[in-house]
Amino acid sequence: MNTTEAAKRIEMTYLRKSGYLCGWTSRTLSWNWRGEPSGSITAKIDIGLYGTEPHMELDYRTRVEGEDWRPVKYRVRLEATPCRFGGRRWWFICPNLGCGRRNLVLYQHWDRFVCRKCAGLRYNSQSYRSKGFGPFGRVLDAEAFELTMKRWYYRGKPTRKHRKLLRLRGGMDPLEALCTAASSMGISLHSD
Ligand SMILES: [Zn+2]
Repeated sequence: MNTTEAAKRIEMTYLRKSGYLCGWTSRTLSWNWRGEPSGSITAKIDIGLYGTEPHMELDYRTRVEGEDWRPVKYRVRLEATPCRFGGRRWWFICPNLGCGRRNLVLYQHWDRFVCRKCAGLRYNSQSYRSKGFGPFGRVLDAEAFELTMKRWYYRGKPTRKHRKLLRLRGGMDPLEALCTAASSMGISLHSD
């Protein structure tokens, strides 16, 4: 897939242009982020030529921060609609429970690939906190978290969320660093 975007997605156009929508195929989809590999999954695509229900089976490993990697495997239904000038157009059916919308792009959200609407609905700090980290490690989650940010600075100081984002990105919380340095000199500082 080789996209330079932070959020991982699977595009139907890409599958079509790569010739993956003709019969049955098993492929590795991989992503890059800032020039580094940032994840890969196995996709088995079956458009139902041999009587099966058209689907794409996704197979990868996912991890919650502090826990072990665990395998995830599920099917995304594929549906074809006729094109105006012949041929047909393929759609992903969003696998999120109770959704089922037709889509041309699926977005990685926590441990699943779902439609934009399902991914967007849950991009809020509440679910972020309760669900922990998604698959593929910290970088992506920092990106997801960043989408929830409204305010970066308050009265010249980084906001609490801003500091959390910096922590997610692996840097030290700037206020925490200051407090640590201060306490090592015997000074007590209080942050909010
Ligand atoms: Zn959906």
